[in-house]
Amino acid sequence: MIKNSNIAKREIDSLHQEFKTYGKNAREWIQKCKMLLPKIQKQEVWKKKGFTSIYEYARVLAGMSTHAVDDALWVMKKLEARPHLKKVAKKKGLNAVRPVLTIATEKDEKEWAKKAQKMSQNTLKMYVKNCREKGLVHEEKQSEECSRVNPGQKNQKKTKTSIYMKLDVQTIERLKKIKGEKDWDELLNMMIDVMEGEGGAGARERAEAMRSARAIGTARSKDVPAPVNTGKRYIPAKIKRHVIKKTGGCCAYPGCTKPYDILHHTKRFAIDSTHDSDTLKPLCKGHERIAHEGLIENEESSSGDAEKWSIKMQADVLNPKYQVDEVVGQYYMPM
Ligand SMILES: [Zn+2]
Repeated sequence: MIKNSNIAKREIDSLHQEFKTYGKNAREWIQKCKMLLPKIQKQEVWKKKGFTSIYEYARVLAGMSTHAVDDALWVMKKLEARPHLKKVAKKKGLNAVRPVLTIATEKDEKEWAKKAQKMSQNTLKMYVKNCREKGLVHEEKQSEECSRVNPGQKNQKKTKTSIYMKLDVQTIERLKKIKGEKDWDELLNMMIDVMEGEGGAGARERAEAMRSARAIGTARSKDVPAPVNTGKRYIPAKIKRHVIKKTGGCCAYPGCTKPYDILHHTKRFAIDSTHDSDTLKPLCKGHERIAHEGLIENEESSSGDAEKWSIKMQADVLNPKYQVDEVVGQYYMPM
């Protein structure tokens, strides 16, 4: 019986492995096709080879959908005068640079390329979102859905409709505050992303728990466990419990409602070998990566209060912490 189940497990593992390998290769080859599309289009290769359109050409030869072709041409157009980002796209795929396509300018694309090279797509997306919230980056004015449509294609503009909602005045004020310069579609989509990503109602509860726990956490200082200076990376349970309780199990970055993934040493354990509940922060994977890129302002605010955190555009490369992170980062595989 045990023997049979071992064989079955091995078979599943090997099927899974085989599928994964083929999938990875397929994605890589499709990326190569996508990068060729602008030239195929410019030289009308499809026409010269007897196809009725570039869409038919890409569908028949590479199994690409119309949307995938439009999207790839749009991304490649954005990358035209951005050689550094283009290089990253070639290496990591078009999605790796997608979060910065509408904000990277010819002047700062090199900096964005460095970030896109180091961060995963999700981390970069989160970083850009935080930069937007702080007003550090500016969107291109041109409308997204118009620019995506290929010349010669019929206009595929999204239909918009009005809705009427009866809301509390306070709710409206709060919504307006977080909306800022964004349009309503963008804001609501960001909210939907959070809710979907966090399992709906769970996110609300966590956000609530986070708020109340933060209030309690700042008031009760006598319950704070003493810092432990040790050579061991293992965080003592008492400190761990205390730190997680402070944010209700959420990421400590202001406004982030994701559950925490990692307890992050804002002073870097490699430097001070200390586990201190004032400087340890529960963070989601994205914000932990952003912290290790040195891109969080006031990371070590003296009160240990993450509310003072915000995003910044440049890391302080002279900070010893940054140098530690650079070394550790070499062993980190972005997902
Ligand atoms: Zn977070």
